[in-house]
Amino acid sequence: MTFLYYLFIYLFISPLFNQVGQLRTISHLQLRPAPPSNRPETSSAKTLMDIGTRRIFNEDHDMFRESVRRFWTEEVVPYHKEWEKAGMVSRELWQKAGEQGLLGILTPEEHGGIGGDLLSAAVMWEEQMYSNCSGPGFALHSEICMPYISNYGSKEQIDRFIPQMAAGTCIGAIAMTEPGAGSDLQGVRTYAKKDGDDWILNGNKVFITNGCMADMVIVVTVTNREAKTAAHGISLFLVEKGMPGFQAGKKLEKIGLMAQDTAELFFEDVRLPASALLGQANKGFYYLMNELPQERLLIADMAIASSEFMFEETRNYVTQRKAFGKTIAHLQTVQHKLAELKTEICVGRSFLDNCLQLHAEKRLDSQTASMAKYWASDLQNSVATRCLQLHGGWGYMWEYPIAKAFVDSRIQPIYGGTNEIMKELIARSIVSQK
Ligand SMILES: Cc1cc2nc3c(=O)[nH]c(=O)nc-3n(C[C@H](O)[C@H](O)[C@H](O)COP(=O)(O)OP(=O)(O)OC[C@H]3O[C@@H](n4cnc5c(N)ncnc54)[C@H](O)[C@@H]3O)c2cc1C
Repeated sequence: MTFLYYLFIYLFISPLFNQVGQLRTISHLQLRPAPPSNRPETSSAKTLMDIGTRRIFNEDHDMFRESVRRFWTEEVVPYHKEWEKAGMVSRELWQKAGEQGLLGILTPEEHGGIGGDLLSAAVMWEEQMYSNCSGPGFALHSEICMPYISNYGSKEQIDRFIPQMAAGTCIGAIAMTEPGAGSDLQGVRTYAKKDGDDWILNGNKVFITNGCMADMVIVVTVTNREAKTAAHGISLFLVEKGMPGFQAGKKLEKIGLMAQDTAELFFEDVRLPASALLGQANKGFYYLMNELPQERLLIADMAIASSEFMFEETRNYVTQRKAFGKTIAHLQTVQHKLAELKTEICVGRSFLDNCLQLHAEKRLDSQTASMAKYWASDLQNSVATRCLQLHGGWGYMWEYPIAKAFVDSRIQPIYGGTNEIMKELIARSIVSQK
């Protein structure tokens, strides 16, 4: 009898417990459901820009978003027109953003940052688009330039640049594009020749965001002209303002992003110490390939956020504008247009939130980031065209925010790798996976 009792315990009861006596779950047999979330998704929220929505975020992100929204509303919106005329924002703005911990949000506290997560960085990108202020090149500085230094820099480079960049006292830029090489990054001609321990840099770059204000530029440079492929002979250098032979050219006149400085850069016999090399020589192309998915993700997230902003602007407009004795929101054709816009934006938001979550878990691959960049930036332009149309002639006037959002949208399918190049990358992965 005792034997049968122990046999019963052994066969049926003990498997339910693990070694420390806790009840063992049978999760290996079940699909584990995601933790329940009562946060509304964008499609169910009152507006597409509501705080407290989307299951990828939590209450800490909501509090952070409130303070970020306040920053854009109080410190940027009132001055943006002035900066559009000047063609660049003020240096004080950079420092204010730094003081509030809004630059290099991912930077750990020991390097002067707030040690935020990727989703907090996304809050900053999205709030910029909700404010419709394209001037500050914060995202490029914080989540494009800073990671190169954090990920590939020496301890000296990290100590020298990261705390200052987080404080907004050192503005960053990255210079890949040249007059003769944009999409074809392997065609860059800017060249650094070894001279003892130093390097001598010659060449020029074009279309560089933060180009005039930058204190430090990451320059994509050929260092081995005899490499087996061009990609094997590219290095990255940290070039600082004031180095003899380095000069920013004039600010370029663009059709949009009026308050963002975009410049040409010239390098003439710039002597660089060995400590200016970022990571290893001739590994630059590999570093670029690693970092470009984050750049593409942020462009995509900003594209969806801009679409959300334009939708809300348009919703407000059509519920006020009268024609034929009623607001135009009463017209069924207008209502259907709004329904189409909202549906497309919410579908895009859903994919983007998935990409943000994947990237937060370090699982976003290059082809998915390329899909997000191409699809979201094309959507943004289509939304811009349709929302402007719903504003009629007023939409073509600068005084209406939709006009600015429309022109600012146009660059998105071009920079960060054109959408044609995105399709090349996606297609390559489709064909090679077979
Ligand atoms: C406002 C602004 C800010 C920018 N900021 C920066 C910056 O901070 N740093 C930086 O380095 N660069 C920056 N750029 C440059 C930007 O990344 C390039 O303009 C972009 O990569 C395209 O290069 P390109 O202008 O030389 O066009 P090209 O490469 O000459 O392309 C012209 C056309 O040909 C198409 N094309 C080219 N190759 C292919 C192909 N293989 N298959 C199909 N189609 C192809 C392109 O898609 C495009 O439609 C910025 C540009 C602008 C306008």
